[in-house]
Amino acid sequence: MRPEVLYPLFAPVTALPGVGPRIAAVIERLAGSHVVDLLWHLPSGLIDRRYAPKVAEARPGAIATLTVHVERHDPAAGSRRPYRVRCSDETGRIILVFFHARADYLQQVLPEGEVRVVSGKVEHFSNQIQMVHPDHIAPPGELAKLKAVEPVYPLTAGLAPKSLAKAIDAALDRAPELSEWGDSTLLARQRWASWRESLAAAHAPEREADLDPLTPARSRLAYDELLANQLALALVRVRLRRLPGTSIRGDGRLRGRVVAALDFTLTGSQRRALLEIEKDMATETRMVRLLQGDVGSGKTVVAVLAMLNAVEADAQAVLMAPTEILARQHFAIVLRLAEAAGVEAALLTGREKGKARRSILAGLASGTVQLVVGTHALLQETVDFQRLALAVVDEQHRFGVHQRLEIAAKGRAVDVLVMTATPIPRTLMLTAYGDMDVSRLTEKPAGRKPIDTRVLPLARLDKVVGAVRRALDSGAKVFWICPLVEESEASDLAAAEARFAHLRELFGESVGLVHGRMKGADKDAVMAGFTEGPITVLVATTVIEVGVDVTDATVMVIEQAERFGLAQLHQMRGRIGRADKPSTCLLLYAPPLTENARARLGILRDTDDGFRIAEEDLRLRGAGELLGTRQSGLPQFRLADLALHADLLAIARDEARLILERDPRLEGPRGGPLRLLLYLFERDATAGFLRSG
Ligand code: ADP
Ligand code: MG
Repeated sequence: MRPEVLYPLFAPVTALPGVGPRIAAVIERLAGSHVVDLLWHLPSGLIDRRYAPKVAEARPGAIATLTVHVERHDPAAGSRRPYRVRCSDETGRIILVFFHARADYLQQVLPEGEVRVVSGKVEHFSNQIQMVHPDHIAPPGELAKLKAVEPVYPLTAGLAPKSLAKAIDAALDRAPELSEWGDSTLLARQRWASWRESLAAAHAPEREADLDPLTPARSRLAYDELLANQLALALVRVRLRRLPGTSIRGDGRLRGRVVAALDFTLTGSQRRALLEIEKDMATETRMVRLLQGDVGSGKTVVAVLAMLNAVEADAQAVLMAPTEILARQHFAIVLRLAEAAGVEAALLTGREKGKARRSILAGLASGTVQLVVGTHALLQETVDFQRLALAVVDEQHRFGVHQRLEIAAKGRAVDVLVMTATPIPRTLMLTAYGDMDVSRLTEKPAGRKPIDTRVLPLARLDKVVGAVRRALDSGAKVFWICPLVEESEASDLAAAEARFAHLRELFGESVGLVHGRMKGADKDAVMAGFTEGPITVLVATTVIEVGVDVTDATVMVIEQAERFGLAQLHQMRGRIGRADKPSTCLLLYAPPLTENARARLGILRDTDDGFRIAEEDLRLRGAGELLGTRQSGLPQFRLADLALHADLLAIARDEARLILERDPRLEGPRGGPLRLLLYLFERDATAGFLRSG
């Protein structure tokens, strides 16, 4: 339950004076739908109105606040000339200019013969000093009400600066004083004021330097956001650990059979990772470990061997994947290895129905099914295990803290292994996973051939088609990737279908198409056609193909490569280069390429090192865009900028760890304020676990 003191901040923005449904809709697009979202919408500039010269001395182009005598109105009655108001002080004359003016309004705010304060940009125009549409007009007595320095906020179409500023002011008025969650030593060392004061200061810049993300006020807000993130992740971890675990120690008999049946030997990093996992599983506390390795580094085998460790100890293990296709792909591998071990494995997705489904559920409940692979369908209430000991969650690049917890709740002492192929830099790892134990697969399995990557403009399509034809003639399989993003889904899909039709004309029936809008069974049929024949060219949209394992594909064409994130391109490219023959990746772009896009594609051409690619991507694009799409699932920060606040993130991580070591349930004196912090940054899902833990 959200603490009452925060209710005003989580009211809809329409609760603010002057914000009706129309403005609310625009604000929602710009910042968010709640009052709190406006607090996080920090100024990007400022207008200094402290410059108050005499009329004749006012610098052209400057924002000035002038005290003038209103002499005469010159309405533009019926003509296309603007409405003009002549004013002056003892040094000279200034004309106030209004287009599409409302005469009655102007006569009311600028009565002839009176003194008024006007603030706006001073211009010199054909020997006259003028001010077009002053930003402010006020009687001299109200001068104090004008802000000397006004914050300027990032805007969007359909929203007037004044309306937004007014809404944000009202939001700030509603921001309560909150009890301090920060550590007093840290606050003193950083010279940070309270949350409320820092918020006010961040919204009231006095000079350009105050807009710097590294000012104390902005740093404090960024830190709070990072602390909420780290605390939430640490809570998940602590909660998992606090629950009783069981010591799982297999005797190695099943794993021995599988290793003997493999047609390769495990790499050093695979063996190291397995040792780390076995050690975790053997302890009485729960394992919460991340298995990180580039695409093709061999995570699946590691996962299956860990799962068999559980089976050897008379328990069950589950592998959960984010998509149906991936689940099927994993299942194919698991099934093969399970057969070698003589173990019962099943697949459970939304598509297993009726009798087949009931039989799997019965097998899981009775324990006759020892290994199960599936999608989110595994989280349904009807899924019950006899004794679940290990949950492997393959997240690809969709991070989901909740799913980790939910699947772990299917057993009493479940060890959790999270697999990710995203070679994200350490900084981002922390924000997505917190301070988790990590096993990294750094070696590539033996026999991997380097991939020849080339960057070409779309105009060279003929050349590409020629290369594909030659490859097909020598028995190759080809991935042809067309981009598909949510924002332009319909036109992207049409483009993919058009490309499919075009390639069909060229290469005939051997061209297949698979995309996210297709029915599951149709997708399977096409995928099976590609893995086993007769399909040799697979046109695919990005959403579905990541992770697909077709070891003998050697050519990948990626259209509009400039639209993808580097990490994403790297992941896709990892789908080839697995066969014993050399592979080629052709990155097609639609000119003109920006400087930045050219640099990014160049990196991909020059290196195959996922971690280097990720670092370069972070450098070139910034953390917010690292994976290219919003679907990346990486936490988005409103106040923290990971490129600038990396040191604050490290402090937040240590602080979160320390807090929970002392007070794992947040029940001590700082617990209340820290819970507030979690709610303030909408990490309440994890705050909720505090009660049930
Ligand atoms: P990831 O899940 O990390 O992308 P996979 O586990 O799918 O990688 O492995 C990719 C391919 O490499 C699979 O075909 C797998 O059988 C093979 N493989 C795994 N480990 C090794 C190894 N040590 N030596 C050779 N091939 C391996
Ligand atoms: Mg895999």
